[in-house]
Amino acid sequence: MASFEDYIKKFEKQISKYIVPQSEWGPVEKAVYGVRDFYRVDPKEANELRFKSIKFQFKRQYEMNTFYRNLCKNRNISPDDIKSHDDLLKIPLLEDKFFKNYPDGKEFAVWLANIFTGELPEIEIRKKKPSYDDILKDFNSAGLVISHSSGTSGKHTFIPRDQRTFNMAEYIFAKAVVTMIYPFWDYDMSVYLLMPNPFKTFLFAGKVCSVLYDAVRDARCAIDRKVTTELISLLMRSKGIKAKILRFSSALSNRKTIKRIVSWLEENEKKGRKIGFIGAPYILYEVMEYLKKRGKTFDFKDRGAVVTGGGWKIQEDKRLPVDMFREDVEKIFGINDELCLDLYGMVEGNGAAIHCPEGHYLHLPTTFYYPLVVDKNMEPVDYGEYGRFAFLDATTYSYPGFIVTGDRVRMLEHCPVCDRFGPVLEPEVKRVRGEEVRGCAEEVRRMLSLES
Ligand SMILES: [Zn+2]
Repeated sequence: MASFEDYIKKFEKQISKYIVPQSEWGPVEKAVYGVRDFYRVDPKEANELRFKSIKFQFKRQYEMNTFYRNLCKNRNISPDDIKSHDDLLKIPLLEDKFFKNYPDGKEFAVWLANIFTGELPEIEIRKKKPSYDDILKDFNSAGLVISHSSGTSGKHTFIPRDQRTFNMAEYIFAKAVVTMIYPFWDYDMSVYLLMPNPFKTFLFAGKVCSVLYDAVRDARCAIDRKVTTELISLLMRSKGIKAKILRFSSALSNRKTIKRIVSWLEENEKKGRKIGFIGAPYILYEVMEYLKKRGKTFDFKDRGAVVTGGGWKIQEDKRLPVDMFREDVEKIFGINDELCLDLYGMVEGNGAAIHCPEGHYLHLPTTFYYPLVVDKNMEPVDYGEYGRFAFLDATTYSYPGFIVTGDRVRMLEHCPVCDRFGPVLEPEVKRVRGEEVRGCAEEVRRMLSLES
């Protein structure tokens, strides 16, 4: 078995286009690319990397982003106030709702330009009355990666990333997965992406998976049609003729996608190949229901891995219990429990938490990321107490990544099961009461029904 060091080196060589050359590293790059295993950095060293990288980014945001500087001035905080690690808690946080509160038409382009930090490239808005999708297209053809997510209400969250910031997101998400499944990753494996095609969408959860096509030789995806904000809004609407027509074909096309995945499994079992699934648990749940009915099972023991993300809603009002899902994955595909992991990430930040194989607690990165739990007054609470998840992210060059989410979590100082350093979240993250249900599980569920 390759040492972890050799394994990660080999992986990084494969995805080198997402990595900044060492000669150009500043405090942020050092905290991201200079760390071999995000979850095993000695806390003292992690705090130092974190302090330097977040202070650097806070100063940069303060100097280069007018709206954020005004917010800081209102709260009487400036970069000079950040002298020690504890002072990082003084950095003003933005509510995630902020990124949902925007005008439409050409004004939307102005809104995006205002929250963007740094110099924007020249952007031409081509249409007279542009839709959100038109504006995304115009911004992104100028070299940016504006991506979105959406709640069940259909109101999207838009986050403006430049290429450097998006590359870091891809690197961090991919490395989180490859680290936790050690030594399973292999360039010569086949992976089914249970998400929209990254090259045909700006949905963050899909887009961030484009790194997969560099990380493995054989990747394919379950939802190949173009997925726009308009399509998602339409899918999330329950009334109207267009929405009804979209739903009408659902059962039939759904079945086709499932059958394609099953023949892919058969083919790879026959060839003895290593496989992986990445994406929405709902699609795999459907595949497993299909196989259960036919009494069919596979044997991918030590040859298969599953990494899920996007939430556990399987029907409008039904959640899939995570441990039951893992049991089924083992029974039906033969895939070991320790290779069935869930990832918690979001469009607003570049940090991702991922299950450890031993205990399935969500481990957080600590060198470029400061995970926090805050109460209703935005004050940090102690380990073990419930509150809203918040973070300071040093890697978001193109917007202030100091954000309070609507997710209700409990953070523990150490994993109760494994010996990795750093804090963890409990295995499953739920939404704060009263906030709308988020995560892309519901969107993906409805998108799947469009495949033919
Ligand atoms: Zn653990």
